[in-house]
Amino acid sequence: MDKTSPEVRAKIVAAVEAGFERQVEFLSDFTAIPSVRPNEGAALDFMAGALRGRGWDVDDWTVRAHDLRDEPGFVDCAGEVPSVRSVVGTMEGAGEGRSLILQGHLDVVPEGPEDMWQTPPYAPKLRDGWMYGRGAGDMKAGKVAALFAVDALRRAGYAPMGRLHYQSVVEEESSGLGAVATLARGYRADCAFIPEPTGLGLVRAQVGAIWFRLKVRGRPAHVAYAGTGSSAITAAMHLVSALQEMEAAWNAEAAMHPLYKGVEHPLNFNAGMIRGGDWTSSLPAWCDVDCRMGLLPGDDVATRKAQIEAVVAKAAAEHPFLRDTPPEIVWTGFQADGFTLEGAEAPEAVLRAAHEAATGQAGPEDQIWTALTDTRFYGLYHGIPALCYGPTADAIHGFDERVDLASVQRCTEVIALFIAEWCGLRES
Ligand SMILES: [Zn+2]
Repeated sequence: MDKTSPEVRAKIVAAVEAGFERQVEFLSDFTAIPSVRPNEGAALDFMAGALRGRGWDVDDWTVRAHDLRDEPGFVDCAGEVPSVRSVVGTMEGAGEGRSLILQGHLDVVPEGPEDMWQTPPYAPKLRDGWMYGRGAGDMKAGKVAALFAVDALRRAGYAPMGRLHYQSVVEEESSGLGAVATLARGYRADCAFIPEPTGLGLVRAQVGAIWFRLKVRGRPAHVAYAGTGSSAITAAMHLVSALQEMEAAWNAEAAMHPLYKGVEHPLNFNAGMIRGGDWTSSLPAWCDVDCRMGLLPGDDVATRKAQIEAVVAKAAAEHPFLRDTPPEIVWTGFQADGFTLEGAEAPEAVLRAAHEAATGQAGPEDQIWTALTDTRFYGLYHGIPALCYGPTADAIHGFDERVDLASVQRCTEVIALFIAEWCGLRES
């Protein structure tokens, strides 16, 4: 059978369309589950049930994080992630064909103050062709698109020749330990496809990131005698300013990077969480600041960590209290390499053909990302070409996150056509 014939393509596209209303309902149900770390259990249950209902073989397991310690890309998250649960559905191929991992994370980031949302973050709403809700864009719509792409192939009367693994992972937003767990379990394929919200573009390069916590001490005193004490909160602000200067220096270097020189301020520092102090009228004795800093593809993570340590040490040495009581740095999550997609000509050609067939336009366009995805684990550490391509989203990690449903339908078509060509099809 000529799997790429226009007739077959038309049948697949029609099958996506026929299932799309149900797909949108399914996406709404999935987005309604608040799968913020570490409460991803209900979303994993939801996916395991959906796979079983469709006849996939389901592997639902939990591994102690400690048992992943020898895996490439492992990070210990300062012991804050004791275990990792993943759900993988497998569909054995109907014949000889290339295998494929369809991976997506189902963890979402916290929604922030609900009164800043126009509609509640976990009560998904459809408006003007968009679905609103935390995680709708990043990346539940892409995850659901991959599942329904396989449904569409079956509805059109085809079975993929190559083996499929449909993987639901956690920890993408904080460490990547979900992807690590599936690789440690032994899952491999000829290609990995991650439908993060790329606006129907292909991620060519992505930054890495480092998470760390500054643990700053102070000397408590009654505020009436403030001169006898030292505020840990004020001292932490001093360290944050030094890190902002480091951020400016790293971005000045990034202006020389072949892929990032055209990107405005690609490496972003963020002091994302702060806690400290015990009493309004006492100088705070402690302050913890959780930070994130980006790095470039090709950067050595250990070197960048040493630079962060040096910046903090120098700033502490210039501070009257921290000089003798230096802050501690704890590595709490990502220690992630940047990644550039290379050597993936074969799946890229298949993706290009699928994209052009579904959208009627040349593409997909290359994207240079200032965020990261799980593709690095496949591409950097396991030699598996890893494509990141998905629908159009807006305000991810922000208020009123949303995903464009027309792009979700296009993306579902593209994934279905990609599977058809990459894995091959047989009439079932
Ligand atoms: Zn994501």
